[in-house]
Amino acid sequence: MDQTATATPTCPYCGTEAVGRFCSACGKELAEHSDSTRVMKDVLGVKTPPVKAITCTGYFALFRPALLSTRWWNGERRGLVSPVVMISTVTAIAGSIGAVLGHLYGTGAIAAGNDADLAQVQNLAPFLQGRFPRQFAAAAGDPVGFAQKFRQVGGWFAAFWPLLLILPGYLSLAPWKRIRSHCALIIACVETVFLTAVSAGFLFLRAIVPALEGNGLLTTLIWIGICVHGAAHIRHAVGSGWGYAISRPLIATLLFPFIIYGWMVEVLWVTMVSWPVLGG
Ligand SMILES: [Zn+2]
Repeated sequence: MDQTATATPTCPYCGTEAVGRFCSACGKELAEHSDSTRVMKDVLGVKTPPVKAITCTGYFALFRPALLSTRWWNGERRGLVSPVVMISTVTAIAGSIGAVLGHLYGTGAIAAGNDADLAQVQNLAPFLQGRFPRQFAAAAGDPVGFAQKFRQVGGWFAAFWPLLLILPGYLSLAPWKRIRSHCALIIACVETVFLTAVSAGFLFLRAIVPALEGNGLLTTLIWIGICVHGAAHIRHAVGSGWGYAISRPLIATLLFPFIIYGWMVEVLWVTMVSWPVLGG
């Protein structure tokens, strides 16, 4: 019998002659259900995380940021994960650390702000008070309820919070035309990975050493460390002088409060839109 007829496998989805793990024409994975483990993973929607690539990318983000940025923007992704995967991973790890610490040491150590502080948020945007007068009156009479609702709405937007770090970095680099827009975005993504890792470490330190809560010196040292990391990263990746490199993290720091303000106003607006006022 002639065995060569079946030697070249064809894609079961589109019939194209296909060699390798994925079909070169339609992109489907060919050996998706070749054993029971793969079937089970598909049923559960589980993809094995590329741990080695994530570890390597994370190491580069912390210690070789310029190398990671240049490799990402040149499209050399071998052994690396994408910026989106890296940011999602560190955000998930930092969020889990925060949740576990909050459970172990009480939420006080890591609270985003107590109810009284959050009630002050209502005064942030006078232009919104004119639009939702009855909602604001009801919220003012129920500061605890308002704080809960505000936190809940903030949680709905939690998946977007890396943008709060990416945007100031991007805006400090991109509009100056010194580097291309997508390179600016990649530098901002790498620094966001670094910042999120540092924040998680700081959160952990504060939880186990409560005396560090509100320690201005430590906060300043961490901020200086972040600026130096960002400056060295930009200098090596862009090939600029120290002046340009150091001014970028400083501009990003100045932009940060405006980004946070915009975020708070957005969360406040959605809180008030969804505030349960009877007889709407
Ligand atoms: Zn195919």
